[in-house]
Amino acid sequence: MNETQLGGKAAPVRFEGVSKVFGKDVIAVDNIDLHVDAGSLVTLLGPSGCGKTTTLRMIAGLEMASSGRILIGDQDVTKLPATDRDVSMVFQSYALFPHMTVLENVKYGLTFSGFGKEEARARALHGLDLVGLKGFDNRLPSELSGGQQQRVAVARALVLEPQVLLFDEPLSNLDAKLRRQVREDIRAIQQNLGLTVIYVTHDQEEALAVSDQIVVMRNAAIAQIGTPRQLYDAPNDRFVADFIGEANLINCTIVAVEGDTATIDIDGYQHRLPARGLTQGPATLAVRPSRIVVGHGDGVAVRIAKATYVGVRMEYTLEGSFGQVFAVQDDVDDPLEIGAELRMSFAAKGPVLLPEAK
Ligand code: ATP
Repeated sequence: MNETQLGGKAAPVRFEGVSKVFGKDVIAVDNIDLHVDAGSLVTLLGPSGCGKTTTLRMIAGLEMASSGRILIGDQDVTKLPATDRDVSMVFQSYALFPHMTVLENVKYGLTFSGFGKEEARARALHGLDLVGLKGFDNRLPSELSGGQQQRVAVARALVLEPQVLLFDEPLSNLDAKLRRQVREDIRAIQQNLGLTVIYVTHDQEEALAVSDQIVVMRNAAIAQIGTPRQLYDAPNDRFVADFIGEANLINCTIVAVEGDTATIDIDGYQHRLPARGLTQGPATLAVRPSRIVVGHGDGVAVRIAKATYVGVRMEYTLEGSFGQVFAVQDDVDDPLEIGAELRMSFAAKGPVLLPEAK
């Protein structure tokens, strides 16, 4: 069996106006539309309770949609029970059978899916090979580290060759170093096999690192969908700007709009940038810490309130009439001094205009 065979059935997933209401009035998912391309990795990202897990469970058939349609490939699966869907799920808790060996755990689902004994064994061994656990087949789960147990869970899902592979916070039980390693492995396997993966996390760094597309959710709805770079560079609103990466949110005034370009004013300093459909009046400027420029040139008056050396870079807190901002600079050899009175401006591709805070 070669690797392409295992990913051969990857299918797109589509949500059309899908809602999920628990009981009378808990709206867990509110009328969402979503398209996940075959062979892509999409993360559902958002704070606790925003509806990520419910969305994932509706794809698996572990929750039934209250309204709307869910399609996997060309098939409308909205009302199909979980057992009739070609979907595998990897849970945070691994959910391995403790009394079975690693190989038996990975083979378990295959024997129910109609594979002969020998083929199930060959597939399971291939799956273990893919997740870097060759030679671990006869161990019990208790004889593995947490990271290795999660790899077994990934292999078990993978060998079923589902149309869609779902991950529900798969790295939550691992320490920081292992998290990074396992997420890179998951991404590499997904890309090598061309799998459709939908991945729930509340960790924005994890989402940025592994995703083709990120779906940011808030209050049961989708706040924004985009590639990691689109969300980082052009968040739609304060919530997304704040949730994805660190952002300084500065109140400003749009004093003029010409075509697609706005001129904003902060404390007498004027800067031109894309208007993004906004008109004159109060607005918010979102600026990443690395895109703040501090010096003696043109800019907003600031004072260096705090300077911290963290090895690879300097971190600064700047104070001005607008409040405080956080800035980072690569120059660690010639740091700015605390108390210095300087000017703050922005890198060319720096700030983004957002609607005024409500
Ligand atoms: P977390 O990151 O904490 O897992 P989440 O974004 O995955 O959160 P969900 O688990 O999808 O959020 O929950 C969304 C909302 O639906 C929450 O308000 C939750 O309390 C509610 N909810 C989820 N499952 C049920 C259930 N079985 N019965 C009633 N309410 C539920």
